[in-house]
Amino acid sequence: METTNITYTQVQVSPLSTMLNHSDGMYGNYGGAYVPPVLIEPLAKLAEAFDREVRNESFQKEFVHYLKTYVGRPSPLYYARRLSEHIGSTIYLKREDLNHTGAHKINNTIGQIILAKRMGAKEIIAETGAGQHGVATATAAALMGIPCKVFMGAIDVERQALNVRRMKLLGAEVIATDLGTKTLKDAVDAALGYYIEHPDSYYLLGSQVGPHPYPRMVGYFQSVIGQEARAQILNAEGRLPQSIFACVGGGSNAIGLFSGFLEDVEVEIFGAEGGGKATLENTAATLSLGKPAVFQGTYSYCLVDADGNPVESHSIAAGLDYPGISPQHAYLMDKGRANYFPVTDDEALEGYKLLSHLEGIIPAVESSHAVALAAKMLKGKGDLAVVNLSGRGDKDVERELE
Ligand SMILES: *Cc1c(COP(=O)(O)O)cnc(C)c1O
Repeated sequence: METTNITYTQVQVSPLSTMLNHSDGMYGNYGGAYVPPVLIEPLAKLAEAFDREVRNESFQKEFVHYLKTYVGRPSPLYYARRLSEHIGSTIYLKREDLNHTGAHKINNTIGQIILAKRMGAKEIIAETGAGQHGVATATAAALMGIPCKVFMGAIDVERQALNVRRMKLLGAEVIATDLGTKTLKDAVDAALGYYIEHPDSYYLLGSQVGPHPYPRMVGYFQSVIGQEARAQILNAEGRLPQSIFACVGGGSNAIGLFSGFLEDVEVEIFGAEGGGKATLENTAATLSLGKPAVFQGTYSYCLVDADGNPVESHSIAAGLDYPGISPQHAYLMDKGRANYFPVTDDEALEGYKLLSHLEGIIPAVESSHAVALAAKMLKGKGDLAVVNLSGRGDKDVERELE
C-alpha cells in the first residue's frame, strides 16, 4: 500500500542542488539583473530578504502551513494505469492540477506573498497574460489582506473575461494596458514601469523569468514539486524513474520537478516547449529555436529575429506563449543535464484528448505538451517515468479546441 510520508519540515533551504544554488543569480553566463539603475537597490533588498527568510524557521513553518492546509499539499503522485498500458511504459502523474486554484502557480505565489508581508509591502503588483498568474496572485493577496494590482494587455482583458471576473471578485484591481500588442509582454512592461515609479511595492513575478533574484526565488518555491515526487516514486516503486517530463513556458513547474532529480544522474530529464506550428514565425520553443539574448531583465535564450530583436511567440497554450525562458533551464541545457524538445499545437491536442479519454483527467493544454512528449519518448520502452501535470484543463474546455 502506498503511503506518503512527506513530513514537510523538510523543505530544504538549498533545494536546487549544488547545481543551481547560486546566490549571485548567475548560472554560467546566464541570469543576472539587467535593469534600470532605480531597480538595482529594490532588487538587492529583495534578494537579501529572500536569503534571510528562507533560513528562518518561522518563515519555513508559515510556508509549510499554507502549503498543507491552503494549497492542499502534498499533491498526489498518481499511477496512470490505462495510459501506461496504452504507451507501454510505467507512468506516474504528479498532480499539480489538484492544487487550490488548479495549477502549480500557487506554490510560488504563496511563498512570495509571505515574503512580501514580512518585508512590510503595502501593495502587490503582478502581470498576467491568460490570467492564471493574476488569479493566483489575487488569491494570495486576498489571503494576506494586501491590496493587489494586476496589469494585463487590453486584448487579454477581453479574451480572458472569466479570469478578469475572478481577479475582481478576489479583490484585485485589474489594469488594462494599451501598450504594444496589448498582450503579456506589454503587461510585463506596464508592471515594470509601475514598479520603477513605486519601488516600495512588491512585484510578484509568476514564472522563473526576469532579473535576479526572481529565477532563484521562484525555483525555490516550486522545488516542493520535485522534493515530493522523488520521495513519492521511491515510496511507490522502490526506485528512481528512468525519465521525468514537464512542460516549459517560463520554466517554473519544470524546474520545480527537475530540481528534485538533478543529482540523480541516471534520471533523464525532458522539457516540452510550446512548439506552435514548428516555424520560427509561429512557435514558443525558446530553447529549441532561440538564441542567447538579454530580455526583460535576464540573460537567457530568447526568440529573436535576424537582427537579434525579441519576436512575438505563438503557442496554443497561453501559459507557454512567451519568447523568453528561465536562465536556469538555459544553463541545464548547455550543461547537457536536461533536454528540451518542441511539441506542436497538434501534438499537444493529442495529449489533451489522450489523457482525458484514458484517465478521466482533463489536463491544461500547457500540461498536455508534457503528456505528448512523454507518449512519444516512452512508446514501448517499458520505462518508469514521472510526468508533471502542471494544471487542470477547465479553462481550456470552453475554447472548443477539438
Ligand atoms: C502558467 C502555466 C504553465 C507555464 O509556466 P511555467 O512557469 O513554465 O511552469 C504551465 N502550466 C500551467 C497549467 C500554467 O498555468
